[in-house]
Amino acid sequence: MMNDKYSNKIVEIIQNYARKSSLWIVAYGTGCGAIELPPTMTSRYDAERFGIRGSATPRQADVLLITGYLSTKTLKRVIRTYEQMQDPKYVIGFGSCTINGGMYWDSYNTIKALDQYLPVDVFINGCMPRPEAVLSGFIKLQELIAEGKANGARKYKENLEWYRTNQRKVIKNWKMPDYNW
Ligand code: SF4
Repeated sequence: MMNDKYSNKIVEIIQNYARKSSLWIVAYGTGCGAIELPPTMTSRYDAERFGIRGSATPRQADVLLITGYLSTKTLKRVIRTYEQMQDPKYVIGFGSCTINGGMYWDSYNTIKALDQYLPVDVFINGCMPRPEAVLSGFIKLQELIAEGKANGARKYKENLEWYRTNQRKVIKNWKMPDYNW
């Protein structure tokens, strides 16, 4: 008879296989990089063959794809969107603007590094990343999920105070419901 530890491990492997094989995205088209999504999702690159497709609402989505720069005003909506998503959930930062501000590095009204405000599981660099790079980023996320290493959501819960402090520094008119997972 299998011991509990062994059977839990098998269940975890099966769960992670299912998770990585069905990634529904809420693509909040925040920046110019969003224009690369139509070719990625349609017949030319056909992301759905990897189980990647769009979802109707944040509550049905697994992946929040941030497609470029975020103004502080948009950041507020993105945080709200992320917190409405159900576990398990993942964040992909798409484009140089999410990594270091990109060409908006000295803008007065955009954030410079997305991972100061939300837990990013995978970054895709480039300005703007081509569909091949986008697919490569998703495949990296799938590998992390399969290995049980895509743990951004857990990091967010464990470090919520740190994230909140950073978020409130740039969002001056903070008025949102409490964290509600
Ligand atoms: S990385 Fe380039 S393409 Fe993407 S949002 Fe920034 S400026 Fe636009």
